[in-house]
Amino acid sequence: MTHRKLEPGRLIIATHNKGKLAEIDALLAPYGMTTEAAGDLGLPEPEETGATFAENALIKARSACEATGCVSLADDSGLCVDALDGAPGIYTADWAEKQPFEADALGGEGRDWYLAMGKVEGKLAELGPRANRSGYFISTLALVWPDGHHEIFEGRAMGALTWPPRGTLGFGYDPVFVPEGETQTYAELGPQHKLKHDHRTNAFRKMVAAVF
Ligand code: IMP
Repeated sequence: MTHRKLEPGRLIIATHNKGKLAEIDALLAPYGMTTEAAGDLGLPEPEETGATFAENALIKARSACEATGCVSLADDSGLCVDALDGAPGIYTADWAEKQPFEADALGGEGRDWYLAMGKVEGKLAELGPRANRSGYFISTLALVWPDGHHEIFEGRAMGALTWPPRGTLGFGYDPVFVPEGETQTYAELGPQHKLKHDHRTNAFRKMVAAVF
């Protein structure tokens, strides 16, 4: 399959998530792209109405591309837990949304990752102490050009869920995810480990091989 090449220049990163942005900027640093984040440009966050990671990544990249007229890159990612039939999956970020009563109790609206990690743990606990705790992070990258052409790349990182959360170096569900072959969580291992091995890095390797 032939892929379209990405020429050095302006690239919009279609995210409002600072953790993801930092990882993506670090991964793109060697390739001469000038990145700008949709969040920093004040672009709206489109509703993620797709049924798959790829559909949601395309929605985000197309929205940024249409708003700016520039090639845009989006990552749609999430945590899939085997014993929960792949949940939270495409709803990974939604599991961190506070309900109105929780917003009151915890102070403030928005996303609470401890709430989200607790929901995953609660569902695993319902399955009993022998529940299979394996799962994986998935990252699907969508690159969209102003003429509508797109490319999709997917990466995974296998691992297991641990409890209680450990470490402070990551974002999202990092404190409860122990990648395969390690004993520490992503949030203990830190960004240097993730930049070499995680799902986004794996997806980026495929993208880099194809478009640079
Ligand atoms: P979305 O791709 O913006 O829909 O969000 C997916 C959610 O998955 C993020 O908000 C994070 O909470 C979670 N997630 C994705 N990648 C990672 C990661 O590398 N570490 C921890 N959580 C992640």
